[in-house]
Amino acid sequence: MAETMLKFVYNGKAYPEKRLAEIRRADFEGIYQPLVRAKAEAQAARCSQCGVPFCQSACPLGNDIPDWLMLAAEGRLEEAFRSAAATNPMPEICGSICPQDRLCEGHCVIEQSGHGAVTIGAIEKFLTEEAFARGWAGPVPVGNWGIGERAPGIGIIGAGPAGLAAAEMLRRQGVDVTLYDRHDRAGGLMAYGIPNFKLEKSLVARRVARLEASGVQFRQNCDVGRDISFAELRARHDGVLITTGVYKARALDCGKDSVKSVLPALDFLIASQRARPGAADKRLSASGKSVLVVGGGDTAMDCVRTALRQDAREVVCLYRRDRAGMPGSPTEVRHAEEEGARFHFLLAPAAIEGDRRAGFRVIANRIRLLDADAMGRRMMAPVPGEFENFAADLVISALGFEPEDLPVLFNEPGLKTARDGRIRAGARDFATSLPGVFAAGDIVRGASLVVWALKDGKEAAGAITHFLRSAPETRRVVELAGA
Ligand SMILES: Cc1cc2nc3c(=O)[nH]c(=O)nc-3n(C[C@H](O)[C@H](O)[C@H](O)COP(=O)(O)OP(=O)(O)OC[C@H]3O[C@@H](n4cnc5c(N)ncnc54)[C@H](O)[C@@H]3O)c2cc1C
Ligand code: SF4
Repeated sequence: MAETMLKFVYNGKAYPEKRLAEIRRADFEGIYQPLVRAKAEAQAARCSQCGVPFCQSACPLGNDIPDWLMLAAEGRLEEAFRSAAATNPMPEICGSICPQDRLCEGHCVIEQSGHGAVTIGAIEKFLTEEAFARGWAGPVPVGNWGIGERAPGIGIIGAGPAGLAAAEMLRRQGVDVTLYDRHDRAGGLMAYGIPNFKLEKSLVARRVARLEASGVQFRQNCDVGRDISFAELRARHDGVLITTGVYKARALDCGKDSVKSVLPALDFLIASQRARPGAADKRLSASGKSVLVVGGGDTAMDCVRTALRQDAREVVCLYRRDRAGMPGSPTEVRHAEEEGARFHFLLAPAAIEGDRRAGFRVIANRIRLLDADAMGRRMMAPVPGEFENFAADLVISALGFEPEDLPVLFNEPGLKTARDGRIRAGARDFATSLPGVFAAGDIVRGASLVVWALKDGKEAAGAITHFLRSAPETRRVVELAGA
């Protein structure tokens, strides 16, 4: 092992080749070139094979990273892929969009010792692409629920990563699965939130097609609560899993009417991803405009970088904390800066005047950072009398998301939620306050990451299988309640 591994002393850290900023700004294609085999193996060989791998502890899925890095370094790519796929239902997607600098790679011991982390995400993606190309990925192995028994059926509301991961795990057990989603395409925010230059949509479509081939039924354009009632859905299935994510945009706190003309981040991103070339809705497009994005997280960076690709005249990002206090991935901020975005820190909009037709004037108040609170996050205070003005044709607000009011939307007051609207569900059994109804992903956790949604969806499927196997009498109660 020692001969193959621990090469971090000789081999420097290297990502796949990145396309030049001025070239990638002109399209929505991925920004990295595919990793070639020799480079993937050489990078995997940098791993120091720690006895206690911090990278694995920092990965929400607990991926056995040192194991598949060693297999990859030895050229045993199929085994490496199988090890990676054993814990992760979508390794190529996590490899593309996990904020590795905050997760696995940020905890890599050789990063801590100044040699630069192993590029874990890029290798994970490479292995899975090899697997699809060489036929190792194969179809989902559909289980047999039990000879002579009717396979139970589960309805899943929301075809995002949590719903898709649960669907795969349930099919593996032989459960019939129907996925309901309000959009015309499955994938949740992977399809309609995260832009193509971060996550190629073909990767999401390939996962969806694989599930379809395994017998998962997709009901797209079906908004539960509007096109079909929640009660009817419960009556149709032996159990229901809610994985609806969080979609209510947090509003700017400016107290002015013109805030109504401010564009919510997801409206902008969804319009961009739906648009056929040349057919974009001009009101929702940044083309030729001066754009101001408010926010400092990954969604804000996606808006900034989308506006640049739509050929905005200029793109400015306003954030109320300093650079170190930005909640998103530093890598994404770096990409945005390379592509031409300008950042203004320690400023928060105090008033917004104008509208999309006449143009906006954003009056931003200077912010001072104070001591940290009990959670270690520095508090903030506006500096009296210190303001800066910004002119913009389009203002986009990217301040995060909250849950919709699901008990109202589903006409089900018995569905218990936390004060902020997240569904209350058990940490282990994923059970909600309603018998036979489970919940997972962002709608329980709050706005989070794809990798956490995959973990939740996987584990919820395990809990649902246990429920279906152990409590047929409970299922009957659900059927009667829904009838
Ligand atoms: C702009 C943006 C960029 C992001 N970038 C990253 C990133 O780079 N890396 C990362 O790890 N995470 C990122 N995230 C976060 C990540 O996308 C989410 O944490 C993850 O998708 C949550 O998965 P989910 O399955 O819980 O919900 P979602 O992905 O939100 O899926 C929920 C699905 O439920 C459907 N739905 C909702 N209500 C109903 C209803 N009533 N009836 C039928 N269907 C319904 C929706 O249409 C949607 O398809 C980003 C998020 C945003 C908004
Ligand atoms: S799933 Fe995400 S955190 Fe885990 S190893 Fe892959 S890239 Fe790293």
